[in-house]
Amino acid sequence: MRDIFPVNGLFEMMQLPYGADDLGVISGNTLGFHHGKHLKAYVDNLNKLLPGSGLENKPLSEVICNSKGGLFNNAGQVLNHVMYFEQFGHQNHEPVGRVAEMIAKDFGSFDNFKKEFEQKGATLFGSGWVWLSANAEGHLVITQEGNANNPVMNGLVPLLTFDVWEHAYYLDYQNRRADYLSALWQIVDWKVVESRL
Ligand code: MN
Repeated sequence: MRDIFPVNGLFEMMQLPYGADDLGVISGNTLGFHHGKHLKAYVDNLNKLLPGSGLENKPLSEVICNSKGGLFNNAGQVLNHVMYFEQFGHQNHEPVGRVAEMIAKDFGSFDNFKKEFEQKGATLFGSGWVWLSANAEGHLVITQEGNANNPVMNGLVPLLTFDVWEHAYYLDYQNRRADYLSALWQIVDWKVVESRL
């Protein structure tokens, strides 16, 4: 899975792998706040809360699985957001390789999978994330995770996520969460998703 390791005891701010105005279905204005302000605050708070926690120099998944309260919330949100921002780009907008085979086997088709994923994202009450993960038996599962939770807490390998906190879409889509969810397929890079298996 995609894990993140501290450098000299500190987690670093990720750089976007594309220009802030490049994605189209997410505006540069939204990305400026979402990446530049929200993620930055989570990274800064995580680094402030780590000293004395006993979890210094551990990979981020271990911090998430062994913390509570503010430390947990900020650690979870850093992993969630890095995986969210990293999975977008301008190519590979259809599943590839092993993940394509697993989608066909476990959901019947890419269209069926997208429908279920969007439906779970649209019906998640409040703030959170909809995730595609692989379980220990090698099957794909879609889960709704509230607030800062991540499927790694339940022993799953997280592969793909859509952020349904309002800050992820409100500037561009206002209350139309379903429109935001269906637009994101245009920018998912499935090579990145497959690399997380
Ligand atoms: Mn967010």
